[in-house]
Amino acid sequence: MTLGHGRHTLAIPGPSVIPDRVLAAMHRPAPNIYSGELVEMTHSLIPDLKAVARTTHAVAIYIGNGHAVWEAALANVLSRGDHVLVPATGRFGFGWGEMATRLGAEVEVMDFGKRAPVDLARLEERLVADKAHKIKAILAVQTDTSTSIRSDIAGMRAALDRAGHPALLMADCIACLACDVFHMDDWGVDITISGSQKGLMTPPGLGFIWFNDRADAARETANCVTHYWDWRPRAAPDDYYQYFAGTSPTHHLYGLREALTMLLHEEGLEAAWARHEKLARAVWAAFEAWGQEGPVELNVADPAHRSHAVTSVRIGSPHGTALRDWLSEKAGVTLGIGLGMAPPGDPAWHGFFRVGHMGHVNAHMIMGTLGAIDAGLKALGLPHGKGALEAASQVISEA
Ligand SMILES: *Cc1c(COP(=O)(O)O)cnc(C)c1O
Repeated sequence: MTLGHGRHTLAIPGPSVIPDRVLAAMHRPAPNIYSGELVEMTHSLIPDLKAVARTTHAVAIYIGNGHAVWEAALANVLSRGDHVLVPATGRFGFGWGEMATRLGAEVEVMDFGKRAPVDLARLEERLVADKAHKIKAILAVQTDTSTSIRSDIAGMRAALDRAGHPALLMADCIACLACDVFHMDDWGVDITISGSQKGLMTPPGLGFIWFNDRADAARETANCVTHYWDWRPRAAPDDYYQYFAGTSPTHHLYGLREALTMLLHEEGLEAAWARHEKLARAVWAAFEAWGQEGPVELNVADPAHRSHAVTSVRIGSPHGTALRDWLSEKAGVTLGIGLGMAPPGDPAWHGFFRVGHMGHVNAHMIMGTLGAIDAGLKALGLPHGKGALEAASQVISEA
């Protein structure tokens, strides 16, 4: 028997749940791409995109996923042979670093493991030791989606300042923009990147780069930049065509317009941050209760270092895969795979899973997902502590 019929819940860390209103906004005939409504609507996205990253600087929109803006951001500031520093807390830090290597940069990874954030003292020590200022940029990931560790981006700026180091601070906020608190300008971030499909509730396919004047000065001499990936015409187009270096992603733009209206003009960004924090606390409360007995364990011990967008869980092989399979077949919920925690093909790979709680999620969706996990643990006969749903609902009741 399955109880999975009904509306399926996608609780993976991206792509996230798309609001019906965003889908409806995209359901339209192909628009005129030369002038009129689409052009005006696209202009209206720019101030809202700046607001969501809390910056007054420039933004460029790309037709591409997160990997596209990883590469585009690097290409605009690096020359072949440049040295970059990657403080890694999971798979995504390494991934961005690999992209820099392929562009011809000399990449130095500081691996902070899979369970703790970037150690700012060690980072500062490394910067102080770089007397010749060889390090051109720091490739930081605010929330590493594989481990659900959130690192302190403002603290990295402070470390750079204390070390008197001129490296650019680049922040990957793909997982957590509009979920975890982020202030590009106040935190001294030079380049921020994100995508449409996580906190921004729009299908995958749009990538964003916000950059300040320091970053744009690096663009002046970067020899990795190519015409298509150049951020300058996109951020300051003379004509509409230049926004996208070609045909605009028409329907995605309508979807994004609706999502930004919901996020910024209806809910408000600070309220969205607070919602994500509250719902994340409910998720953690449930996992902490389950973890009192048996194999369930949150990957990140200290709540201060946990993302509000995604939660990585350790449960032991093969229970991660078994639980995910049970939930999707029997309860109508898809959980995220464990990513980068064990090599694919290794039996240990099946010992992890992730819960996405980014974007268009509310208390009832979170309680539903947690309730389904509770049932899954019981169905699979996995020992677990009691009172998880009670603990989660207690957190939500205090909202
Ligand atoms: C999802 C994600 C990416 C990659 O984005 P894609 O759209 O899958 O290319 C990169 N970094 C982080 C932190 C992410 O969460």
